[in-house]
Amino acid sequence: MLSKSSKKAINEPEKMAFKIIQGWLLQAEKKLSPHFSERSVDDEISLLVIHNISLPAGQFDNNYISDLFLGQLDISQHPSFSDLAGVRVSAHCLIQRDGHIIQYVSFNDKAWHAGVSSFQQKEQCNDFSIGIELEGTDDKDYTAEQYQQLIALTHCLQDNFPAIMGHVVGHCDIAPNRKTDPGQSFDWCYFRQQLKSK
Ligand SMILES: [Zn+2]
Repeated sequence: MLSKSSKKAINEPEKMAFKIIQGWLLQAEKKLSPHFSERSVDDEISLLVIHNISLPAGQFDNNYISDLFLGQLDISQHPSFSDLAGVRVSAHCLIQRDGHIIQYVSFNDKAWHAGVSSFQQKEQCNDFSIGIELEGTDDKDYTAEQYQQLIALTHCLQDNFPAIMGHVVGHCDIAPNRKTDPGQSFDWCYFRQQLKSK
């Protein structure tokens, strides 16, 4: 029996390949966010950005992230939410602690995840990127289920959008003065190794 807490356990071959149809991941739960815009024809998808989020910070057992991305967050629910009043953001996908994936915006559209950002001298990364949120914090280990799903999803995205290959970064890399996520808790070495080995 595989230990759920051990990253080693997910060296087992991943049987079920992910599939994207018309911009939507079949394996994800779909929740439609109003926070998106159309991509321009010039904007080839060529970057994958990994983030983290938790609301309130460090708490994982609620639906506040979806509420935020759907524009439905009740800011009276927690004192820290007052900062989020009127904030309109989204990501393409959220990978929850148990590995469950929710998709909010079609990959064919822009999600509003990167903010002021640049990658290889190109500004406004939302235009040409896909944003994936891991439910978590900068200093708490992500779960084996999250790595497994992220790796399967990255493979699928690379198959569908080949220009992403080799361009997988953290939010901290494209907005270094503003953002730290996915934080030191994200094991890039392990992630890249797993990505190559399948
Ligand atoms: Zn971020």
